[in-house]
Amino acid sequence: MDSAALVRQGFATERRIGQGTLKRQGIQTTRSGQTMARIVMKFGGTSVGTTDRIKNVARRVKTEVDAGNEVAVVVSAMSGTTNQLVAWTNEIARLHDAREYDVVVASGEQVTVGLLALALQDLGVNARSWLGWQIPFRTDGIHGKARIGEIDTTLMRERFTQGQVAVVAGFQGIGPDNRITTLGRGGSDTSAVALAAALDADRCDIYTDVDGVYTTDPRITAKARKIDRITYEEMLELASQGAKVLQTRSVAMAMQHGVRVQVLSSFEDKPGTMVVDEGEIVEQQVVTGIAYSPDEAKVTLVGVPDRPGVAGAIFGSLADSAVNVDMIVQNVSQDGKSTDLTFTVGSTDLDRAHQVLEGLKGELGYSDIVSDPGVCKISVVGVGMRSQPGVAKTMFQTLAAKGINIQVISTSEIKVSVLISADYTELAVRALHTAYGLDADGDG
Ligand code: ADP
Ligand code: ASP
Ligand code: MG
Repeated sequence: MDSAALVRQGFATERRIGQGTLKRQGIQTTRSGQTMARIVMKFGGTSVGTTDRIKNVARRVKTEVDAGNEVAVVVSAMSGTTNQLVAWTNEIARLHDAREYDVVVASGEQVTVGLLALALQDLGVNARSWLGWQIPFRTDGIHGKARIGEIDTTLMRERFTQGQVAVVAGFQGIGPDNRITTLGRGGSDTSAVALAAALDADRCDIYTDVDGVYTTDPRITAKARKIDRITYEEMLELASQGAKVLQTRSVAMAMQHGVRVQVLSSFEDKPGTMVVDEGEIVEQQVVTGIAYSPDEAKVTLVGVPDRPGVAGAIFGSLADSAVNVDMIVQNVSQDGKSTDLTFTVGSTDLDRAHQVLEGLKGELGYSDIVSDPGVCKISVVGVGMRSQPGVAKTMFQTLAAKGINIQVISTSEIKVSVLISADYTELAVRALHTAYGLDADGDG
């Protein structure tokens, strides 16, 4: 999209060159007559997957620079690279030292920042690369899923005044003990939003291999529809329930800091999806989107003593080992003595969860651990659900009509989730997409 289109959308704000002061007072121009904005552009793995694609990214960045904007570009590793790096760490040791895991998996982004800086220089753009520790992106010490604390943008702001483009490695930071950290898979979205917040950027454009956020993953059904505007809250739920188009933390951060995020294609020149406040959406669907998460594993602790403190001990120990627990069901005990406790964890956390639970066996005295990695969580999300009953009923009836058994259910104000066998993922998503009137050729 060109700058004029952005001005029409109300994005452009004037910046006093050299002082870095952001004046959100409407549209003004610089002395040279151009509208200026400070923008963060983020390019995902597919968008930088080959050297030709990196050159394409460089051309896009140059367009923004030529329009008079101050630009920071955040990049991921080339597609497939991080998966390969993760696989290597697992081949060496399944329960590995998370600090060394980070050293390995952060390396993919070092390649792409360097290549993109070179491609920009080749086009005559003044650009330099920045690794996480060079900026620095300060994080906590939870390796593998670190959280960003502070970002020092002093030097970057100074370089903007000299017309330099910052090419920043996504996904990585530096922990309290000066060791490399990573932000969890898909984390360069969060790097971009965090940088946009720290720089007081006018917008954060997330360029990817789809042209926006869809009613469901377009890889699952060709009937998925592009959404022009989606609320932060809905995007947060969709992301946390598995829609990988944005990392969950990036949406939470955008919501918290009021960062204007747009998801758009790095291959096509057209507007994408804006993530906005609820008040900016005129017509509200009951269900806005459907997400699925195959990266779940179900764990059942059989014969858990039915007494106070047991759940606290189990989930407290899992949390202490940085294992996130999602859905939880506890049955009422038949005999008042013991019961079964079922919950889900991310499949990459399953080995660690087992290790923690086995460590508790002596203390708790449960009889068995049964785990099932072959499950998938399907979620329907929409802020319209708050005022419209019957969403869960439609979900259960639709799945029943397809003969799909529901194993666990959980709800929030704007979401209903069910856990089903992973074998039925596509069938369930497609059936629900139709049932809620979301199909592109439907009348929803
Ligand atoms: P990147 O490498 O650019 O970060 P990702 O693979 O992380 O890209 O995210 C983009 C992918 O997200 C798309 O290719 C699409 O398959 C998937 N996706 C899942 N849910 C959705 C959705 N609701 N809308 C758009 N894309 C989605
Ligand atoms: N390269 C990292 C990953 O594959 C970060 C990202 O793509 O956002 O998870
Ligand atoms: Mg991604």
